Order: sequence, then structure tokens, then C-alpha cells
Amino acid sequence: MAMNRFEWTSARSVAEAAGAGAVNVADAMLAPPDGPPGQAVVLKAGGIDLLDLMKERLLAPRRLVNLRAIPGLDAIAEEAGGLRIGALATLEQVAANPLVLRRYTALAEAAGGSASPQIRHVATIGGNLLQRPRCWYFRSAAHRCLRKGGGKCFAVHGENQYHAIFANEVCSVVHASTAATALVALGARVELVNAQGELRRPLLDEFLVAPETDVQRENDLRPGEVLTAVLLPALADGTRSAHLREADKLSFDWPIADVAVVLQHDVDGTCAAASVVLGSAAPVPRRARAAEDLLVGEAIDEAAAREAGQAALEACTPLSGNRHKQPIFAALVRRALLRAAGPG
Ligand SMILES: Cc1cc2nc3c(=O)[nH]c(=O)nc-3n(C[C@H](O)[C@H](O)[C@H](O)COP(=O)(O)OP(=O)(O)OC[C@H]3O[C@@H](n4cnc5c(N)ncnc54)[C@H](O)[C@@H]3O)c2cc1C
Repeated sequence: MAMNRFEWTSARSVAEAAGAGAVNVADAMLAPPDGPPGQAVVLKAGGIDLLDLMKERLLAPRRLVNLRAIPGLDAIAEEAGGLRIGALATLEQVAANPLVLRRYTALAEAAGGSASPQIRHVATIGGNLLQRPRCWYFRSAAHRCLRKGGGKCFAVHGENQYHAIFANEVCSVVHASTAATALVALGARVELVNAQGELRRPLLDEFLVAPETDVQRENDLRPGEVLTAVLLPALADGTRSAHLREADKLSFDWPIADVAVVLQHDVDGTCAAASVVLGSAAPVPRRARAAEDLLVGEAIDEAAAREAGQAALEACTPLSGNRHKQPIFAALVRRALLRAAGPG
């Protein structure tokens, strides 16, 4: 099979990358009515997902614009009482950063538990949030599913054991980023800059796109935009967080289920605010609001954590092959809550 030819350039600044004419990889993958997919310019960070898509012959860009030569875009530093994580920081750097470990433990655990040591060494936090879904029908060039401009979701009546158990009516992929589970729970924002130098900082939760809004895109990355940073808010004193995952192969695979919890404690030890987010559960990270509501005002003990685990499954609509995910999520929610509520 012939190799696809493509050009390679390295941007030396964010402005240069934003001016390169790159598009969201989802747009680059959609086949024009009269020709093969691609012919677009796309940005490359670690290249783990991008090169996978190219090798799977789902993407044939005209040019890759390498971001890794942009100085300083991997910095992790305090900002406005919170933390700014440069988009090129690797999952390894994020997981090992002392401020992330101490204040945003769920993110350190999510990044540190993702993929394998070799991949975490190369994969960037920006690229991780923008990777495309792992659904095997989506990844197969032989299946033109809804997300690739086709007419149906093959997973709904097909092999769906790794697919969504919530919000799966239109398309049943799960969001592929494990870090996103923790970042949504922590209330993170993403920073984006376009070719005109305009800046926007949406909540990650709002930047990610559900299939009901647009089945062909997982995020609202607009033409020319570069994701420059992930911004973590300042957290109230006494806030604790945790992330847990379950996978077929814990050594290097995407999770079957993952959960992030963030708990803010009152002076009397009860829960003042709770954020419970399920990953690998729906096309976007899913807030388990029924579980959160149960926890506020309670002392978080075994019984409360168990009840919240059950409540997290409210509105669950499992597919033919993925009912087994339900007890896994209930157990992960319970264990993550007890971990975040336990002695520091
Ligand atoms: C065996 C294996 C196991 C894995 N397990 C997990 C797991 O458990 N959890 C998990 O979350 N992931 C997992 N992954 C996925 C991996 O973590 C991602 O592919 C990786 O994080 C992508 O980051 P990257 O820097 O390589 O991005 P790239 O592949 O370079 O880019 C990904 C996408 O983002 C765009 N992009 C990148 N950076 C920017 C930017 N700054 N601005 C605008 N656009 C940008 C690119 O155009 C591309 O569309 C696994 C991968 C493998 C191979």
C-alpha cells in the first residue's frame, strides 16, 4: 500500500501555529463529497493519536504543524491562586508535578494512570483532551459511522461492551481522555488562541461537545485555534480529590470505567460541596448530579458512599453488551469518595 505523502513544518510560536491554517482534526477527517478525506493542515503535539489516525488511513493531511518546538508551552505554574498547565506538558510531567499531586490529586492520578510509561512520556495534556474516540467502528476504515459522516451508529446493535451506558441514543462512543474526567470534576478551563490573537477560556465541560449537539466533533476547537493551556481554579481549603479507574489491562489500556470526585469539607467534617464525574461512561465526561446532591451536608462514611454509588447510575441506559459497567461504576464511586474523604 502506498504511503500518504505529507509536509512537515515546526511552529516556533503560538502565533505561527495559529496562523498555519490548521483545522479541527474532525473536519480534516470528513470526506469531501468529491474526493478522499484530508488535504487539510493539522497541528501535532506528541503525535500519538494523530499518527494512529494516519496509519489507520482515516486521516491524510496535507501538512502537519509540529507544536513541540514552541518554547515554554509545557510550563506548569501557579496563576491567580490556581494552576496553569501548558498544553505541551506531558502526562508524565502533569502526574509528577508536586502542585498537581498535592492540590489536584485526581488529575495526578488520572494522568499517571493513563496509557503506559512510554506513552505518558510523549503524550501531551492538550493532545490528550483532543484525541478522537476509541470506538472500533469509528477506528475502522471499513465502517462509515455517523461520526465520520455516515448514516448509522454500528455499536448500538453491534459489539458495544466498551461503549457508553449513558446518553448513548445518537452515538455511543465514550470520551477517550481519562484526564478529562478529573479536569471536569475540578472545574478546569481550557485556553484557546486563534490566528487573530483572540483568546477564549471556556470551561472544559462546555468545550466538549455531546453527539446531540454535533455527532461529528468531540470538541469546539475552531479553525486556526491552538489550545495553549489547561487552567485549574483555586480550590477552597480542605478540598480533596481522587480518581480511580478499572481496565481490562491496568498496565496500559484505556479504562472500562473511571471516576473522579472532588470533596470540599465543612469545619464540622461534613461535605460542603461534591463533584462526582464518571469517565468512559458517556460521549462526554458525565456529572453524577444525583450522587452529588445526596452527599452535601453528610458525613461521608461507607453507607453514604455506597448510596452515592447507586445514585450515580440514575438515568443509565446500558446497551446489550455493557451492563457489567454498572456495578463497576457504583464500586468506583464508593471507593473514590472514601479515599477523598479519608485522612489526608
Ligand atoms: C496503548 C495506548 C493506551 C492509551 N491509554 C490511554 C488512557 O488510558 N487514557 C487516555 O486518556 N489516553 C490513553 N491513550 C491515548 C493517548 O494518551 C493520547 O493519544 C495522547 O494523549 C494524545 O496526545 P498527543 O500529544 O500525542 O496528541 P496528538 O496525537 O499530537 O494530537 C491529538 C489531537 O489534538 C490536536 N492537538 C494536539 N495539541 C494541540 C494543541 N495544543 N492545540 C490544538 N490542537 C492540538 C491534534 O491536531 C490532534 O487532532 C492511550 C494510547 C495508546 C496508544
